Amino acid sequence: MKTNLEQYSKEDHGIFKKDIDPDVLTISDTLISNGYQAFVVGGCIRDMLLGKTPKDFDIATDASPPEICKLFNKAKIIGRRFKIVHVYTSERKYFEVTTFRSDVKKKTNEKKFKKIQGMIKRDNVYGSISQDAFRRDFTINSLYLDLDSEILHDYVNGLDDIKNKKLRLIKKPSISYQEDPVRMLRALRFESKLGLKLTSECKQPITEMAHMINNVSPFRLFDEILKIMHSGSAVTGYNKLKEFGLFKYLFPYTNKILAENQIYNDFFIAALNNTDTRINDGLHVNPSFIYAVFLWPYFQEIEVKYSDDSSSGIDRAFKKVMQSQGEYIAVPDFFQSTIFTIWSLQSSFLNLSSRNVQYLTEISKFRAAYDFFYIRSQIDHELKFYADKWYEIQKNVKGKKRERGKKYYGKRKNK
Ligand code: ATP
Ligand code: MG
Repeated sequence: MKTNLEQYSKEDHGIFKKDIDPDVLTISDTLISNGYQAFVVGGCIRDMLLGKTPKDFDIATDASPPEICKLFNKAKIIGRRFKIVHVYTSERKYFEVTTFRSDVKKKTNEKKFKKIQGMIKRDNVYGSISQDAFRRDFTINSLYLDLDSEILHDYVNGLDDIKNKKLRLIKKPSISYQEDPVRMLRALRFESKLGLKLTSECKQPITEMAHMINNVSPFRLFDEILKIMHSGSAVTGYNKLKEFGLFKYLFPYTNKILAENQIYNDFFIAALNNTDTRINDGLHVNPSFIYAVFLWPYFQEIEVKYSDDSSSGIDRAFKKVMQSQGEYIAVPDFFQSTIFTIWSLQSSFLNLSSRNVQYLTEISKFRAAYDFFYIRSQIDHELKFYADKWYEIQKNVKGKKRERGKKYYGKRKNK
């Protein structure tokens, strides 16, 4: 890989200031006018170069976290191992400002890096912009735009990779995945979502190293899987997780059932297609839903085992599923309760009595539970009759709720 710094003017890179949030321009100006360096970096630059609207803007600087805080009215240092700063530009809107870091060992203690559960843990210290460029994951995520000169700084040949639609890790792939196995998930997500092609060197080690995903914190995996499933390309992402052998380490219980009962695969695809449509139409999606889908086969299997055990069977089956799966991917309590509601209401959709209709439609998670039932009915034709009836019922409910103006799902936050 070429390691020289390439600089591109705005005529060459084609990003214009008008496409950047004015608050980012203000933050960058403040840093620069106080003698620091400031660059917009990461996913936002990548997305703009690919002609997509960025989700958020991240800023990298040579100012330390306390130095950053001194320059802004409202700024908060967060993180324990890596300190980053949230700079607030209004009550609920903030931007992440990160000090350049290096993951290169300092000469004085260059002996070896610690190996924890087979993962390489490097010390992470502050560094220069070029060191910051090399500690990032993919070349396309390591492009730095100076908003003052409007020059794009490229240390890793990232702009060429974007032009050639190539997804390439900066470091040697086996080392990079070992350092952080989440990069395997990020690779598949960027490939699915951005229509880029992972280079064969970056692709080749994944299947062999897939098991290392189990060294990652179950809480972090909860977020990373959601990012794939809410990327607007969930079907492709799911197929890639299976193709590269990651799915079986993420959802081992579901995977075992899937091998014996392919009908669940059709259910997953139907649900993920539905999620993709909702995301691409800008509609709200509930994080619980996707986990309710992926864990449904396992829950059903366990529920049958506990069904002779009176009414507490569902509770116990639910706890067992969450506990066993929690060793791999931990679903936060808040989302667990929605999953419980979705699953426990499924049998109620077979009862069309007016009393039950009244009861179900008053429940706050009725909509999510109905959507889940509807998707099941696309695979299980015995449910179709009921799903059609509930389709009519929920249409009226929607109308009534709109009239009452009770619920409003706005955008959750600016970041
Ligand atoms: P998106 O926001 O669309 O998920 P992103 O690339 O912006 O994509 P973030 O998690 O917001 O992802 O991270 C911001 C930047 O931090 C990345 O562009 C990359 O440069 C760096 N980064 C993120 N995760 C890693 C990682 N696991 N290893 C190395 N660098 C990373
Ligand atoms: Mg980002």
